[in-house]
This record gives sequence, structure tokens and C-alpha cells, in this order.
Amino acid sequence: MSNNTERYGLLIDYEYCSGCHVCEVACKKEHDLTVGQWGIKIHQDGPRQLDNGRWEYTYIPVPTSLCDLCADRVKGGKLPNCVHHCQAGVMVYGKISELAEKVDKDTMAIFSR
Ligand code: SF4
Ligand code: SF4
Repeated sequence: MSNNTERYGLLIDYEYCSGCHVCEVACKKEHDLTVGQWGIKIHQDGPRQLDNGRWEYTYIPVPTSLCDLCADRVKGGKLPNCVHHCQAGVMVYGKISELAEKVDKDTMAIFSR
């Protein structure tokens, strides 16, 4: 059930993440983060050889404790900067209840604060 105090978050579908790191840079610029500080970080799983001989890489974007869901941008009617700049559409910003309804596969995760 929705209400005015409902929390917001990011729905991340890492199946489509190319590991391009654009979201990391977009976040650093938006929040003026220094070297070594990240609001979101891409983690790489693999490479790992599968039974069929093919190699598997997975890139997983993980928001950190420095992520404030771009509160100032969102107040101004804009999308979070990582969402705005991700060309692969990996992340969706919205109400947790609405994001949860979209989860239909095991490469999806919801981040909230
Ligand atoms: S989430 Fe989007 S912007 Fe970030 S590394 Fe993946 S594809 Fe690139
Ligand atoms: S929502 Fe904003 S603060 Fe959070 S990771 Fe994305 S760009 Fe950074």
C-alpha cells in the first residue's frame, strides 16, 4: 500500500550492466567525491569458465553508504545522476513498493535508504 512517507530506492538489473563505470563517474561528479570515495561501485564477478567451456563475467553495480539517492537532484525533479547517465538502463528509481512489483528475475536487486 502506498503512502506519502513511502521510501524510495533503486531497482538494479545487473544482467545488462556492461561494466562501463559511467555511473561511478556520474555519481562522483554530482557529489564532488574525492579519490577513493564512491557513491556507487562496480564489482566484477569472474571471469569463470562454465561447463560448456564459455567464460562468464558479471558486473554488479553496488551503491555505497555515500549514496543519498541524489536527494537534491530528485527534489528538483531530476533523476538520480547514475540513472540518468546509464545508457544500458540498468537502474530504475522509484517507490520501493512499485520497484518490488517489477522484480521478476534473479539478476535484480533493490537498494534503498
Ligand atoms: S550500471 Fe550502467 S553506467 Fe554503471 S557500469 Fe553498468 S552499464 Fe555502465
Ligand atoms: S543515486 Fe545518486 S548518490 Fe546514489 S549512486 Fe546514484 S548518483 Fe550516486
